Amino acid sequence: MNAGPLFREGCRRVGKALSDLLEYQLFLRIGGLLGAMSFPEAGPMRTSQTPGRWILHIDMDAFYAAIEQRDCPAYRGKPVIVGADPQSGRGRGVVSAASYEARRFGIHSAMPISQAYRRCPHGVFLPVRMDRYQEVSARIFSIFHRYTDLVEPLSLDEAFLDVTGSLQLWGTPQAIGRRIQQDIWEEHRLTASVGVAMSKFIAKIASDLRKPQGFVVVPAGTEQAFLHPLPVERIWGVGPKTAAGLRGRGIHTIGQLAQVPCALVTAWFGRHGRHLWELAHGIDDREVIPEHPTHSLGAEVTFDRDTDDRDVIHQTLLRLAQRVGRRARAEGVKIQTLTLKLRTASFHTITRTCSLQDPVDRDAELHRVAQTLLHRVPLKAGQKVRLLGLAGSNLRNLREEPVQLSLFGSPGPAVDPLAKAVDTLRARFGEEIIQPATLLTSRQRESGLPGSPRWRHGV
Ligand SMILES: [Mg+2]
Repeated sequence: MNAGPLFREGCRRVGKALSDLLEYQLFLRIGGLLGAMSFPEAGPMRTSQTPGRWILHIDMDAFYAAIEQRDCPAYRGKPVIVGADPQSGRGRGVVSAASYEARRFGIHSAMPISQAYRRCPHGVFLPVRMDRYQEVSARIFSIFHRYTDLVEPLSLDEAFLDVTGSLQLWGTPQAIGRRIQQDIWEEHRLTASVGVAMSKFIAKIASDLRKPQGFVVVPAGTEQAFLHPLPVERIWGVGPKTAAGLRGRGIHTIGQLAQVPCALVTAWFGRHGRHLWELAHGIDDREVIPEHPTHSLGAEVTFDRDTDDRDVIHQTLLRLAQRVGRRARAEGVKIQTLTLKLRTASFHTITRTCSLQDPVDRDAELHRVAQTLLHRVPLKAGQKVRLLGLAGSNLRNLREEPVQLSLFGSPGPAVDPLAKAVDTLRARFGEEIIQPATLLTSRQRESGLPGSPRWRHGV
């Protein structure tokens, strides 16, 4: 074996580590000096929060799994894993949610389902019932709206609430947070964790600190003391890569990051670096923006086995079109731009996008566009597909935007009564309750039964 390249690589790494270390030490010293003299680059030191503003971050605990355990008493106290079909460890999707019992086995969301199965083969593995979670989410959000109009959803189970204007009516921000936690429990038998602070960033960290059923208040003026001992990973927007970059430079806590001059953090991470530095100092003036309009809605499927079967691919495309259509109709939006995503067995991802002249929300129209997009993907014969996805963006809100009537021809009803009836059935009885005949398996066609909705019941 030739040791030359190895030796050169070793030297290069040692050299890089030394230069990083020197750079850091040097800047710490310069930073210290500048800090003593004031640090003009950072601008005048802003107050860390908008004075008098109070923000709650509310995050439901293991939301999907908790709903399943509440809906089915047999699942309570058991490790419940919501996500793809584990197929006795051969399943290929991911975990969407894990109950706290399942987390004790090291299972967490986004973990491959096969790995979750290996860690806890006796767990209760359940498919995602998105309609159900959306329905419960809407009810939880209606509780938030009792206390303030300024509710910014981050996902189905998480939101920021600006309660500054509600204090006269409801008392302290803590009192409001406690009431919300209590309302959620009494009305839905679900638990939430609450963070109370003067900025979004700190409220979000606080809610996550003592889950489940956490309640963490960061009083005004204690932000730095609260932040500094925490690991850098706690900063919102610090992913594994940035965290490794910081740790590689000897920065493990938020307090250590706060000591590094802003210019150096910016040199390391660009504009993102400046933002990180500000957060490390507790500077976060972002406002709570109520009801972010949905920017896109999509659905995707990872096949159980890589496939080149045209029928399977086309049926999946129809299912995806149905799911995207249903979500669009539920949100009262029409889709102007549709994107198809296809990942091959070799993990090569191809996307094709089409902007439509008239926005659509009906399954058949979405399916037709999706098919033309699929035809534009250069798949070679025998090339297998791993994942197929469909996403609608450039959404038109029917409630806010008047529909442009066409001069010739009738525009048709704004809401399709058939689609509405089908949506209602599916919301109540599950996606399989009504299907186009092309999506039924031959066995189902014979027996007239929909497919089984459960992956597997644990012991
Ligand atoms: Mg949550």
